[in-house]
Amino acid sequence: MRSPDSPARRVAIIGGGPAGLMAAETVRAAGHQVDVYEAKGSPGRKFLIAGKGGLNLTHSDPQALFVARYRERAAEVGDWLADFDGPALRDWARGFGVETYVGSSGRVFPVDRKAAPLLRGWVRRLKEQGVRLHVQHRWVGWDADGALRLATPEGEVRVQADAVVLAMGGGSWPELGSDAGWVDPLLARGIDIAPLQPANCGFDIAWSDYFRDRQAGAPLKPVVAHWTALDGQACVQQGECVISADGIEGSLVYAMAADLRDTLARDGQVQLQLDLLPGQTEAQVLDKLLRPRQGRSFGEHLRRQLGLGGVKSALLFEVLGKDAGQLPAERIAASLKRLPLSPQRPRPIAEVISSAGGVRLEALDRQLMLRELPGTFCAGEMLDWEAPTGGYLLTACYASGLRAGRGVVAYLG
Ligand SMILES: Cc1cc2nc3c(=O)[nH]c(=O)nc-3n(C[C@H](O)[C@H](O)[C@H](O)COP(=O)(O)OP(=O)(O)OC[C@H]3O[C@@H](n4cnc5c(N)ncnc54)[C@H](O)[C@@H]3O)c2cc1C
Repeated sequence: MRSPDSPARRVAIIGGGPAGLMAAETVRAAGHQVDVYEAKGSPGRKFLIAGKGGLNLTHSDPQALFVARYRERAAEVGDWLADFDGPALRDWARGFGVETYVGSSGRVFPVDRKAAPLLRGWVRRLKEQGVRLHVQHRWVGWDADGALRLATPEGEVRVQADAVVLAMGGGSWPELGSDAGWVDPLLARGIDIAPLQPANCGFDIAWSDYFRDRQAGAPLKPVVAHWTALDGQACVQQGECVISADGIEGSLVYAMAADLRDTLARDGQVQLQLDLLPGQTEAQVLDKLLRPRQGRSFGEHLRRQLGLGGVKSALLFEVLGKDAGQLPAERIAASLKRLPLSPQRPRPIAEVISSAGGVRLEALDRQLMLRELPGTFCAGEMLDWEAPTGGYLLTACYASGLRAGRGVVAYLG
């Protein structure tokens, strides 16, 4: 908190997403003048889109597991989460009269599964607290005097601030505002930025026209995925995915996306295997396959003996070929338990849930201030960390916004 005899300072927050708004609230609470500059005509557009999927605010994982979701950046993100974690986020939502619940997967959602009431309440409260929100103000860099350059419909304006928080999001869904326009101005100032890459993404797989035409959009559930992490560790996870026209997507795919993406980048190829019959051992599957077909087609045999039909059966034929039924039963049983798929490339960054890469955490101090630009802080998805879907993204954005906001307050003394 600012002491009564020290003057209020002017703080500019660039980006009106969850990270920027959290930073704004924190700095304003310390008594400083806060201006939020948002490129779009309204703040929080990506947050609102997240609401279309039910707004998975956070996760009920125990703390150690929660922190491990941030992979190589678990230590740094865990440090932010020490100040603001999943339970804190649930309390924060309750402050707007929004109760949350834990779904069967452990994910946490607002009871009404909507983002709009939370965002509306938040923006109203920020304005009541005196935060000034300037929409259609797009930050384009600094001028020679270090002032912020903001493009507006009325032309460019320049703003001098005592401290700045950059919270302009990652590179996915650019139509919602986070279009990574910050990369070039920061690179020009010598800031170390890891290239933005798709995260929580689907992957292209070369389906036959026959399979694509009939199965695109079909949910594949439940299945167990087997893949290898970049460090060679064998990974197994049960979940659901969806066959898309281009390949495969869905929450199970997002969970392994970072490993698949990085392995593809390193080796030029990657394989994942799907167990189409979780709950049945390979020996049980083989035993049922060996039962007499009694003149039935192979597809009908699969359906009657193994309960395998629809998209799972179609996928088996897609991988083994239309004469799959002529193959030795042992080969078919092994394929049903470990059906190999070869993702070719991640989907383009513009259409995926989130991006990896961004301002490297080594370029920042613990308060998230850029070492090269004292007084300029960064928060949210524009930083170089990633996590699977499950509420981990929003939680880290809030936590980093709080950390940067506190950093500003400490910096301004
Ligand atoms: C479809 C979809 C569903 C999602 N669902 C979930 C979910 O359920 N749970 C979850 O945890 N996460 C979810 N996410 C991810 C989550 O929404 C983001 O990680 C989060 O919004 C990032 O917050 P942020 O504040 O860092 O950036 P953003 O929310 O992207 O906000 C950045 C803001 O900065 C503004 N901006 C950008 N450039 C400039 C500029 N030059 N000048 C001024 N302003 C600028 C943008 O317009 C934007 O308003 C979802 C994402 C998508 C796309």
